[in-house]
Amino acid sequence: MADFDEAKTICPHCGQHMEKWVSPAVNSWGGECLYICFNDECGYYQRGWDHTFKKIGIKASYRHRYDPNTGQCGPFPVNTPDAGRDCIVAE
Ligand SMILES: [Zn+2]
Repeated sequence: MADFDEAKTICPHCGQHMEKWVSPAVNSWGGECLYICFNDECGYYQRGWDHTFKKIGIKASYRHRYDPNTGQCGPFPVNTPDAGRDCIVAE
């Protein structure tokens, strides 16, 4: 992880430390670890419900995601408040 940036594991939207998360499926993210903000009070996540519903009429949202493998940040789509939580790994 040459590009690992510790500062990016802090969510810029709510200031909380993000959870380390490992994909359960062999897919395009196969087994790679991400950092995701699982704070339900996070403004990014809270606004996402409204934004997604207005935009595409689906009850869903997204959480802030940091991918240390690419150094990129972006949205992690969720459709329930518990989506993805079972893949959080302790550091
Ligand atoms: Zn956050």
